[in-house]
Amino acid sequence: PRLFVESDLAEGLILPLERAQANYLLTVLRRSETDPVLLFNGRDGEWRAEIVPQGRKSADLRVVTRTRPQPAPPDLHYLFAPLKTGRLDYMAQKAVEMGAGLIRPVFTRFTQGERIKLERLRANAVEAAEQCGILSIPEIAEPARLPACLDALAPERLLVFCDEDAPVSDPVAALRAAADPAHPPPLAVLVGPEGGFHEEERALIAARPNTVALSLGPRILRADTAAVAVLTLVQAVLGD
Ligand code: SAM
Repeated sequence: PRLFVESDLAEGLILPLERAQANYLLTVLRRSETDPVLLFNGRDGEWRAEIVPQGRKSADLRVVTRTRPQPAPPDLHYLFAPLKTGRLDYMAQKAVEMGAGLIRPVFTRFTQGERIKLERLRANAVEAAEQCGILSIPEIAEPARLPACLDALAPERLLVFCDEDAPVSDPVAALRAAADPAHPPPLAVLVGPEGGFHEEERALIAARPNTVALSLGPRILRADTAAVAVLTLVQAVLGD
């Protein structure tokens, strides 16, 4: 198993496990001291640790050795209009699995999502990072209204805007026409709410230079389906 820890990581360090983590390792996964645990803190790479049981219900971890160096963090910005909480968790986890380096909820005219619990989004990002084996935790950026969100994007960052009203065309060809796959620019992906984008929003987005409106085909996808589809395409065509 792979666990995210906030603490520093160095050979010989003894880390007391939080109750939930101890329970997960000892009871859920039924691990014992002979099973290695992989640790990462987002700064110092991945380290192998050993379980040092402290009674039946708790344990420490003894950090043994580094197994992977710290890679450059993913850079893809994932901008999405929040959905109902349950699907919000799903969207956050899929964004991390698909290589997002920054996740930002965007409030648009038709956004239905309730109040965004950023701590919950971050917990989902940590869980997804542990599960998919990346060694950094994507940033959960402050939610922003669409204009402020667009302004916050660096001009050189190519915005891939999922537009269900864009003329149906080959998304791979559209991405290749917007950026050189051999030297891909920094990227951002924008997915709208269940109610779609308002015409004024579409115009605002289209007015931003360095933006490509991408059709994902003739069917109207649910926002969380569109998110996985566009992230898969962007990574496949322009991924680093
Ligand atoms: N306006 C849509 C309608 O008429 O029902 C609703 C929006 S759709 C459920 C949610 C979001 O997913 C859209 O805003 C868009 O970002 C993305 N999306 C869905 N289908 C898409 C498609 N075929 N091409 C590109 N993006 C799509």
